[in-house]
Amino acid sequence: MKDKLILVAGGGGFIGGHLVAHFRNAGYTRIRSVDVKPFDEWYQQFDDVENVQADLKLREACVKACRGVSEVYNLAADMGGMGFIENNKALCMLSVLINTHLLQAAQEAKVDRFFYASSACVYNADKQRSEDVVPLKEADAYPAMPEDGYGWEKLFSERMCRHFREDFGLVTRVARFHNVYGPHGTWDGGREKAPAAVCRKIINAVETGADEIEIWGDGKQTRSFMYIDDCVEGILKIMHSDIEEPINLGSDELTTINGLVEMVEDIAGVEFKHRHNLSAPKGVNGRNSDNTLIKKYLGWAPGIRLRDGMERTYHWIREEYLKLHRGEIVRT
Ligand code: NAD
Repeated sequence: MKDKLILVAGGGGFIGGHLVAHFRNAGYTRIRSVDVKPFDEWYQQFDDVENVQADLKLREACVKACRGVSEVYNLAADMGGMGFIENNKALCMLSVLINTHLLQAAQEAKVDRFFYASSACVYNADKQRSEDVVPLKEADAYPAMPEDGYGWEKLFSERMCRHFREDFGLVTRVARFHNVYGPHGTWDGGREKAPAAVCRKIINAVETGADEIEIWGDGKQTRSFMYIDDCVEGILKIMHSDIEEPINLGSDELTTINGLVEMVEDIAGVEFKHRHNLSAPKGVNGRNSDNTLIKKYLGWAPGIRLRDGMERTYHWIREEYLKLHRGEIVRT
């Protein structure tokens, strides 16, 4: 089994990079990692993996990438945190080309299984207006009113996976990720998400002697955050399960953004004044993952505590920050 060819699309990215690392560590000998970015921008790259730089929006690139492959993991998308997706709706929607062409190529290549990375951004906005959240169940994606741009693309692509399964017999599996965080991902430059942004702001304030940090929104927004190791484990379990419908893959440990900031301050042993920027993008008011279904099907759900994951993430970002300020080349 370990010599079957695995394709990780978006392998130069955060989650794709961790997936490639996982397969290597698990003894897989044939891994193809494809990403549009130049190699020096990949978060993780391994010499014993077939690394390919290609634009998977193009059908020919997908056909090549799927040649001889048994399992496709599609983690490739143009994406980022709220600051990116609220301001780049067309770019986010163009990721539809990646999944469409990958599905077609995977079907033609007769791959065994196809995984698609969807998002909690598919959920109906009306269910996320209050900070006092009711966790989102899979059925809450319909009637459809997802996050504009990025969420519509995810919902459409989920649906396309379903119809390739129903009409063409391609085995597709879809997980709706809820905020994933951890080392070896973006932490600066505009695409970073809240956990990495909060770590960077606190590290920067410590290093520059500032006495306050900026928080986007009033900080009362509620969220859950899933550590990367839980995400990778969940992807593999869902991929090899019988779960045909899109399923939540997220932590259900709820926090406010203010709570997240205080947690990171505690990890760093500091306390700053908080300046709330009410005109910055802040996303929905409240969101959490209802894990009833995943527990029912897999007897498992993400369980790494936020505090444990944030400690690891904070220390990794601090190391990267210090390297950058020593003039070393790092991937942000
Ligand atoms: P990421 O940006 O780190 O990785 C995505 C990778 O896809 C990038 O390396 C990017 O260069 C690559 N890519 C973009 N366009 C491409 C193209 N045309 N051809 C080939 N590669 C291309 O993001 P991530 O956090 O690793 O996210 C992976 C997947 O999970 C995405 O589909 C994302 O929408 C989804 N997701 C992530 C989160 C999260 O919290 N990180 C939450 C929900 C869903």
